[in-house]
Amino acid sequence: RMVKRNMACRNDIRRHDAPFMAVYKSLIPAEEELEKQKQLMARLENLVAKEWPHAKLYLYGSCANSFGFPKSDIDVCLAIEDDDINKADMLLKLAENLEADNFQNVQALTRARVPIAKLMDPVTGISCDICINNVLAVVNTKLLRDYARIDVRLRQLAFIVKHWAKSRRVNETYQGTLSSYAYVLMCIHFLQMRRPPILPCLQEMEPTYSVRVDNIRCSYFDSVDRLVNFGSSNRETIAELVWGFFNYWAYGHDYANTVVSVRTGSILGKREKDWTRRVGNDRHLICIEDPFETSHDLGRVVDKFSIRVLREEFERAAKIMHQDPNPCAKLFEPY
Ligand code: ATP
Ligand code: MG
Repeated sequence: RMVKRNMACRNDIRRHDAPFMAVYKSLIPAEEELEKQKQLMARLENLVAKEWPHAKLYLYGSCANSFGFPKSDIDVCLAIEDDDINKADMLLKLAENLEADNFQNVQALTRARVPIAKLMDPVTGISCDICINNVLAVVNTKLLRDYARIDVRLRQLAFIVKHWAKSRRVNETYQGTLSSYAYVLMCIHFLQMRRPPILPCLQEMEPTYSVRVDNIRCSYFDSVDRLVNFGSSNRETIAELVWGFFNYWAYGHDYANTVVSVRTGSILGKREKDWTRRVGNDRHLICIEDPFETSHDLGRVVDKFSIRVLREEFERAAKIMHQDPNPCAKLFEPY
C-alpha cells in the first residue's frame, strides 16, 4: 500500500513538470545575448592589451557559469601576474582608457570590498564590472559550469530556485540573505545527495584539472563529457526536485549542527569545521562551505533576523509544493 501511495504522490507532483519547464525555458538567455557579450569582451580585450600586454580577461559569475538570466550584467576579471601592482591605480588607469574609448557611466570604485571599474557599453547596452586578480571566482565559475554540463536537471532546478529567490527577495546579501552563488551550491549539493545521486562529487575524483590560486590548490575531475550519463538511473523530474529541495531546507536540514559541502559531496558537522560559535560577524546560522576556500562560509552574511526570513520562505515554498493546486504560479508571487 505504501508503494501505491508513493506512486500516487509521484504522479500528482509530476503534473507540475510542464509549468516548471515552461518557467525554466523562459529564463534561458537568447543566443544573441551571448553574441553581444562576446563582442563586448573582444573590445575590452583590445583595450586592455594596449595598456597591459600581459594581462588576461576572464568572464566569471552568472554570465559564464551557465546559471545566468537574460539581461544580466557581466562580470569580468582582469588577471595580471605582477607582484607589485597597485589595484587602485590600475583601476583608475583602466577607467581613463574606458572613457577615452567612449564607454559610458565609467566609474572606478577603488574603496569597495572588491574594488572594481564599472562601465556601460553603448553599442550592446550591456553593463559590466571589472575586478583585478579575483582568480578564485574564475575557478569557481568553471566548477559550476562543469557541474551544469553533467545533468540538465541542475540547470533546471537552479533556475527555478534563483527565480524564486529573486521574486521573494531572499537573494540580497546586503540584507542578510544568500547570494546566487550560494543557491547554486545548495542545488549542486542537493543533487549529489539524491539516491541514486544525480551529480557526482568532482573534487573527490581523480583530478584532471589543477591550478593554484592565492595558495589554494584547486583541483577536480573536469572531463565531464565522460559523465553525461552519471545521473540516468535516477528518474526524478523537475517538479519532484523542486519539491524535494524546499522540503529539505524547510524541514530536513539540521541548521544547528551541520554544514553542506559540495567539496566532499556530503554533510559535515559544524564542530569539525569549528563553526559552532560566532566569530566576529560570522554567525554560522546556515552553513554552506565554499568548495575551494574551505574556511569560507557562504552563509556568513545571514544574521538572526534574516535566518528567520529565509526559513519562513523555505517553509512557505515547501507548503505550496505540498498543497497548492497550481504551485508554479504561487511560488514566484512577488514578495
Ligand atoms: P546573478 O544572476 O544573481 O548576478 P551570479 O552568478 O553573478 O548571479 P553572484 O552571487 O553575483 O552570482 O556572484 C558572482 C560570482 O562571484 C560567482 O559566480 C562566484 O564566482 C563569485 N562569488 C560570489 N560570491 C562569492 C563568495 N561569497 N565567495 C566566493 N566567490 C563568490
Ligand atoms: Mg552577478
